Amino acid sequence: MEWIIGIILFFLGASIGSFIGVVVDRVPKGQSIIKPRSHCPVCGHELNAIDLIPVVSYIMLRGRCRYCGAKIPIQYWLLEVATGLWVAVLGLLALNTMNLRWVEIMIFGLFAIPIMWIDWKTFYMYDSMLLPLIGVELVFSFVVHPPSLWERLIAAAILFALFGILYIVFKGKMGFGDVELVTAIGLLLGSQSLLWPLFAGIYGLFSYLIPASRENNDEIPNNAVPFGPAMLLAALTLALFGNQIFAWYLSLF
Ligand SMILES: [Zn+2]
Repeated sequence: MEWIIGIILFFLGASIGSFIGVVVDRVPKGQSIIKPRSHCPVCGHELNAIDLIPVVSYIMLRGRCRYCGAKIPIQYWLLEVATGLWVAVLGLLALNTMNLRWVEIMIFGLFAIPIMWIDWKTFYMYDSMLLPLIGVELVFSFVVHPPSLWERLIAAAILFALFGILYIVFKGKMGFGDVELVTAIGLLLGSQSLLWPLFAGIYGLFSYLIPASRENNDEIPNNAVPFGPAMLLAALTLALFGNQIFAWYLSLF
């Protein structure tokens, strides 16, 4: 029975991944994510239901447009597979433990994917994603414990204040999106936010080593690094493994 639920969750997640692909493509261009319907970027042909089955259509079409044969970038297929697996694993964890914390982390991850991708591409994080994420985290803060509501609110307030100061000091070099993002991260992690700067710093070093794409943006200096992905990966690492990491750390003494 469990594997049937797993498959259903996988395709649900893959459909969300397909939608995230649209978001990542259109939001930075200021286009609507609802209209027009999905079409081939090369020949412009509108895609039908059979072309839009997550994960499956790409394999059946061997990665090419049904109408003009143009290659479809594999990153969209990988995105569908990854979100499918994410939702299946976290969904099954939630069902097996009857703990909404896993649902919270799952939804946080589904916001994190487009925010990271778009930040990597454009060095920009959009309020249209950050503010709903804060809203979702506020709702879960009242429903899911631990972390306790107070822990979450205090962590969010501290991170908001710290990054608010950085934002004022580094005016122009850092966007307000970072301040909004750490607020959501504080709500997610509660007291585990203590370890978050360490992990964000480690992932941030990796971001320096992998050159980000700077498509269609000459205003970004060459040495600039988008920190959204590092911040979000650090948050997800602690949300998933924070308890184990803390237990290991305490065992050192
Ligand atoms: Zn085409």
